[in-house]
Amino acid sequence: MDFLVELVLLGVDSIILITCIKQYYHKKNAISRILSAPTLAIDSNLKEIIRSHPESKLPLIAIRGAVKPLGNPISSNNSPNVSGVIQSLQIKEHVVQRSAAGFWADSEWTIQDVCNVTPFGLESKGIVVEVADPLVSEYLDMDVISDTFRPTVPSMMDHIWGFFTGFRQRGVQSTEKMLRCGTVVTGIGELIYERDGTLKLQPPTTGGSYYLTTLPVDTLLKKIKISKRNYGVMILIFGTLGAVVAGIVIRKYWKQKKQLKDAEERKVIREQSRKNRRRLIRDSKDLSDNKVCVVCRSNPIEIILLPCGHVCLCEDCADDITSSCPVCRATIEMKSAAYVV
Ligand SMILES: [Zn+2]
Ligand SMILES: [Zn+2]
Repeated sequence: MDFLVELVLLGVDSIILITCIKQYYHKKNAISRILSAPTLAIDSNLKEIIRSHPESKLPLIAIRGAVKPLGNPISSNNSPNVSGVIQSLQIKEHVVQRSAAGFWADSEWTIQDVCNVTPFGLESKGIVVEVADPLVSEYLDMDVISDTFRPTVPSMMDHIWGFFTGFRQRGVQSTEKMLRCGTVVTGIGELIYERDGTLKLQPPTTGGSYYLTTLPVDTLLKKIKISKRNYGVMILIFGTLGAVVAGIVIRKYWKQKKQLKDAEERKVIREQSRKNRRRLIRDSKDLSDNKVCVVCRSNPIEIILLPCGHVCLCEDCADDITSSCPVCRATIEMKSAAYVV
């Protein structure tokens, strides 16, 4: 493949570019959706406001309140006096690995990732809005309750083993994160008034993102805008790179095609002049029947067909006959010039 490197480069570039474009529009839509979402205070009027809307729901709304468990809260494994409503327990193994190039590099992978959730709501002024499906939300930032790294103490045997296998364990990291009770959270999603008289915030049924974040709406918007701008810059960089590589490929392809065409033209001209030359030096007068080409019946025989060995064609006709001998129908494997004297 002549363009393998360029095509691989173009492929990788397109994948990155498409991802960036998707993300850019995702952020752009998110910004316009958040801007269109009215911010309502959680208070005694909220129920009436929601009930006055069709189907007792508002498709997109921003509310802010303190996290309040609707049942028993989850107690932290590491700090017993901390309680929350979402708990994430993650265990990662850190290792040093020898790469194919012979360098040792750090890497890590997750061994265990557990998330516990208990029903909760956002509360303000004594009114609670229940929060549904908190784990599908974006920007769900939780407090790190504990983050410990237990290094592995390697024995002599481990060192030797590690040297030969190219793999050494460095240690194990355990992280516990929690969304604590009382944390003030902004929720952006669909708010419905349930038949049992409760208010519920849930992922928008009309599509689009669902947010639960400790950031106020303005800060969240700023964060998304920065991320959108970064994707814009990346689109510019990878778009330009893609255009340059595509340009190189097209130029190279065009040049190669032109070279092939030129070579073909030169070959045709050479062939034509060869035929003309031969025509001029041929002396086809007074040829006996067995010395005349069996196809055109005018030029002298000039070519031997192998393996049958028939000398029955002139050079011009031999150019057009490629499969079988016109005399015995044997398959032509080779042609060669024959000098009939
Ligand atoms: Zn002929
Ligand atoms: Zn033959």
